[in-house]
Amino acid sequence: MEATIGSTTLSLVRGDITAEDTDAIVNAANSMLAGGGGVDGAIHRAGGPRIMEECRKIGSCPAGSAVITTGGRLKARYVIHTIGPVYRDGEHGEEKTLASAYRESLKLAVENGLKTVSFPSISTGAYGYPVEAAAETAIRTVMEFIKKNNKLDLVRFVLFSDGDLASYTRAFKRLTA
Ligand code: ADP
Repeated sequence: MEATIGSTTLSLVRGDITAEDTDAIVNAANSMLAGGGGVDGAIHRAGGPRIMEECRKIGSCPAGSAVITTGGRLKARYVIHTIGPVYRDGEHGEEKTLASAYRESLKLAVENGLKTVSFPSISTGAYGYPVEAAAETAIRTVMEFIKKNNKLDLVRFVLFSDGDLASYTRAFKRLTA
């Protein structure tokens, strides 16, 4: 599934983000940039120790913000690490924080002159954000950003399961209708 917004292609695919050849892939990291399970663990395993060396130098990063490191051995030259919200009940600013995580990641890509970026589904694994709601916020935020900013060629969501892809596809259709 794909749409062109201004000069940017927005696309949804099912896959493993560690295999992406975009300029950057985004990591759903934790505030301590300490690695862990899920997509974070997969990225550090695939990219090797240089990513963690740079994370240690950066230190920590609050929810809703993003930092950039090398991609190490990944095809992607950079990893943008962003911290999504831990979902409690939806009444603790989760949506704002999730939108900020996407926006700050895209800002960092543009500031670094990158043209192509891949995102996983931030916060919908260990952090417990309901995927249907997260998909809506993710796609809306990315669409708003690329409508205002024509510096990126491609933003791709790389969803790890058929169910996640279906949720993102539904949100995408609602928002592009
Ligand atoms: P969070 O802590 O932000 O919830 P998780 O890594 O637990 O992050 O989950 C975020 C999403 O990333 C989940 O939908 C999970 O299925 C997905 N995921 C896990 N491994 C990969 C991968 N290699 N590529 C893309 N997505 C992945």
